[in-house]
Amino acid sequence: MCPYLVFAARTPASRHADTEFIVGNVLTDPDIAQRLDDYRFHDRYQVGANITCGTCSLNDRCGKGCPAAVVAAGGRIGDVDAELCPVTTGAPVTGRRILPLMPA
Ligand code: SF4
Repeated sequence: MCPYLVFAARTPASRHADTEFIVGNVLTDPDIAQRLDDYRFHDRYQVGANITCGTCSLNDRCGKGCPAAVVAAGGRIGDVDAELCPVTTGAPVTGRRILPLMPA
């Protein structure tokens, strides 16, 4: 359902299986559109399911970064995207758009 998640899951550090993010074959599965529609990422995984996000003042308006980046770094979906998070990186927040990815 997301090629980046599949690629990330195939990296050596990944703790997720690539099959978690594959719903079918676009060339051989005639119902691929329905399979994609039926895949509910946010029912399966909870982004921001960690203590840092849970206590963060930006939690309600933060997109929590990129799950594929978390997976490629060896984390589990729900961990902080440490490369983008201003809390973990110490980057200034004011006046800057942060973590633009939002749940669908
Ligand atoms: S800014 Fe960082 S700690 Fe705060 S909610 Fe977003 S990802 Fe989590």
